[in-house]
Amino acid sequence: MQGKDLLSCVEQGLAACELDPSFLAIGLGALPNSDGEVELDAAIMDGRDLSAGAACAVRNIVPVISLARKVKEKTPHVMLAGDQAKRFAIEQGFEPRNLMTAENIRRYDEWRAGRTEKQYVHAAGEAYEHRGDTVTLLGLEDGHTVAGCSTSGIAWKAPGRVGDSPIVGAGLYADDEVGSAGATGLGEELWKACASFRAVELMRGGKSPQEACEAVARQMIRRQPAASSMACVVFALAKNGEFGAATTTAEFPLWICRDGRSEMRVYKGLDG
Ligand code: ASP
Repeated sequence: MQGKDLLSCVEQGLAACELDPSFLAIGLGALPNSDGEVELDAAIMDGRDLSAGAACAVRNIVPVISLARKVKEKTPHVMLAGDQAKRFAIEQGFEPRNLMTAENIRRYDEWRAGRTEKQYVHAAGEAYEHRGDTVTLLGLEDGHTVAGCSTSGIAWKAPGRVGDSPIVGAGLYADDEVGSAGATGLGEELWKACASFRAVELMRGGKSPQEACEAVARQMIRRQPAASSMACVVFALAKNGEFGAATTTAEFPLWICRDGRSEMRVYKGLDG
């Protein structure tokens, strides 16, 4: 964080994860869609003025979180999608590149080998295996909060599929009046629940971050049966520095970094 504003810290933290090819979750070398192409989603939101930028279903551009920031700062829009987002990235100086690596090609070939032509083409209707991954960062400094999120979505997803991560209110939300929240897990369910916005609004109504996250996860378990088929995680950070997290099922490791020191906490599924 030395010398950097909070927005840049969040952006650069995510960019570093995206540019690490050994990290299969996001960016370069992430697990691809059912056509074998990496399609990335990202968003960033500034709690100071609720400004936000997002890019979704983008191919061949990393870090896509930096593209999301460009959308926020260089256009009057919140989101650009697909090949048109890529065109904007190139205009902004990004160099298109191949995001496949020996390792994600190997994983894709392994997945693909077990399927007939009909089964793999667009893999429509296939139940998700637990193969998602996202990095969502919530930053707080002197009562100011920023949320950022980057993902390659669910592995082997249908081409063009976009989940919660780049959607303001679903995958992330930040408002300096209250704090911020983020999500990871089964994007379709988190999106339907408007999970991050709901967590922030529950905090605005007086709940602690932990109470807010548990309320969101419990409502998802009650109202959305599919939310228990794969982890749906929401976590929140109040402007006073308190934080909390909850997952519908399975376990979720939350990393907390305070004044340069990191610790990890594991949250257990509320359905258990
Ligand atoms: N939420 C992401 C998505 O649905 C995936 C994940 O977080 O695992 O695209």
